[in-house]
Amino acid sequence: MSGHVLALSGGVGGAKLAAGLAAVLPPERLTIAVNTGDDFEHLGLTICPDIDSVVYALVGLNDTQRGWGVTGETWQAMAMLKALGEKGWFNLGDRDLGMHIARSWRLRGGESLSEVTARLTRGLGIAHPVVPMSDDPLRTQVLTEAGWTDFQRWFVELQCGPELKGIRFAGAPGAAPAPGLLAALERPDLAAVVLCPSNPFLSVDPILAVDGVRDRLLSLQVPRIAVSPLVGGKAVKGPLSKLLAERGQGEDNIAIAKHYGPLVGHMVIDSGDARDEPGLRALGLEVVVMPTLMKQAEDRARLAQAVLRAAGLEQD
Ligand code: GDP
Repeated sequence: MSGHVLALSGGVGGAKLAAGLAAVLPPERLTIAVNTGDDFEHLGLTICPDIDSVVYALVGLNDTQRGWGVTGETWQAMAMLKALGEKGWFNLGDRDLGMHIARSWRLRGGESLSEVTARLTRGLGIAHPVVPMSDDPLRTQVLTEAGWTDFQRWFVELQCGPELKGIRFAGAPGAAPAPGLLAALERPDLAAVVLCPSNPFLSVDPILAVDGVRDRLLSLQVPRIAVSPLVGGKAVKGPLSKLLAERGQGEDNIAIAKHYGPLVGHMVIDSGDARDEPGLRALGLEVVVMPTLMKQAEDRARLAQAVLRAAGLEQD
């Protein structure tokens, strides 16, 4: 069956499924819209961590050992910066720096983030459209005892230590969907929306906070499928488990499903979380239970195929 698929992705977890979908769908059948709430300026450069995770995963440049950044990375520029007395709280590898320089240079030349992202992906030979959620600044900020702080400071510098008392998206409302996201949402042949296994609160919610996106998704008569970022009841990486615990509303897929509410009709959960299935079905969801840990390309493609099957989009 044909039809277009819109995937909403954060960084590392989302990128793996985005790469799986790109492996099983031709470019004209997939749009990958990526969270830009984590974007920030550092050392005069514009850094888009989630777009880069998706881009690196799509070209196989992602470092699967370290879990982020570029494979075969070196750190000479960082060492020099430290020697020069520049603060090193955010590590940028040499190859990664090339990406940030190219992006920042073009943005400064007046290109939009969408245009720059299209240019960079083209340069790397990526045929599938990777689009930012918005060309406008929408910044995720977190509330700790010390007050509101930018997401990256909490995530990287404070290593997710301080308890989160709130999350907000500065710039929303007011951030318009990027042209590529809007076009995908309006396609008459849009056949499914996939919420990749990204952090619901920190990676997917910013996308939903872009003007009109949540309402548009809710109005679509197509399957909306979330792949859970929990594997065996825990986040593979990152602060999701801690966030769920701090929210006090359960640390399982039921809590995630309740958070997404009517936005999601299907959930793909890990075999290690099969105990959540009855609770999810009681909420009216359709559920697929299968191994969802993506270590290899085959795992990513298998999960992508399962998502398409759940959407009724059997592969030709
Ligand atoms: P970030 O912006 O880089 O933190 O990336 P995401 O929000 O996209 O990804 C973080 C989430 O991905 C975490 O909650 C992980 O549990 C989840 N994740 C990472 N790898 C996998 C995987 O192989 N399978 C599943 N199901 N989830 C994963």
